[in-house]
Amino acid sequence: LDDTDFLDRHQACIRDPRRLQHLHDVHHVEIGDTLTLGRREGGIGRGRLTEFSGQRAVFEFEALDQAPPAPLPIELILALPRPRMLARTLEHVTALGVKSITLMHTRRVEKSYWQSPELHPDKIHQHLVLGLEQARDTRLPSVSLEPRFKPFVEDRLAGWLDERQGLLAHPGTPAPCPRGIEHPTILVVGPEGGFIDYEVDTLLDVGCQGIHLGERILRVETAVIALLSRLA
Ligand code: SAM
Repeated sequence: LDDTDFLDRHQACIRDPRRLQHLHDVHHVEIGDTLTLGRREGGIGRGRLTEFSGQRAVFEFEALDQAPPAPLPIELILALPRPRMLARTLEHVTALGVKSITLMHTRRVEKSYWQSPELHPDKIHQHLVLGLEQARDTRLPSVSLEPRFKPFVEDRLAGWLDERQGLLAHPGTPAPCPRGIEHPTILVVGPEGGFIDYEVDTLLDVGCQGIHLGERILRVETAVIALLSRLA
């Protein structure tokens, strides 16, 4: 919920058709049901449904003194996935609690992916909110787009790595993915076709350490979940 969802301090109203559909199809809500509702500016509350139509859902809202789950000290850098996979991946990694998501270009990212409507800020926001709702979290990760690999890695990522460890998920590298992390971490995950050698060398040169997840090569969306669960 954000400020515009509140009719007054004790009543919240959802009008977004997609969220109404979700309440109907996934939560099967009925009048009188109580749901946990997250507030965009932080904190969660309990909402009792008092009105539900195709146009709006109205809740009696009571704020709860309960902090959202702790975020992971992990910033994710992900080669831009194909649009269909992007939506699900954003939702999963947000539910798992990453602090930020950077979508980066690499040679094996199709140029057309950068024109996808899924990259519209409103669309990205919708996927993040679904992930937050799933995890009963209220802290949106920041999302940025980096359509040029070399300047991003050599100028920006190199600087970030002064204060964080960088882990590059790449099959066949000698070190296994650690279980648990002690320092703020940047995790770099490649595209469906993998990184080319030049990209691996550039990422290692700026200070990333290669890690692997064993001999099974996983789809990007599976690899991201496996990596974050192991590092968490
Ligand atoms: N043929 C590609 C290769 O060998 O790199 C496979 C790419 S995989 C489908 C997509 C991305 O998921 C990889 O670039 C990597 O970041 C991550 N990934 C998948 N399986 C992995 C594994 N076993 N170890 C480390 N990273 C993995």
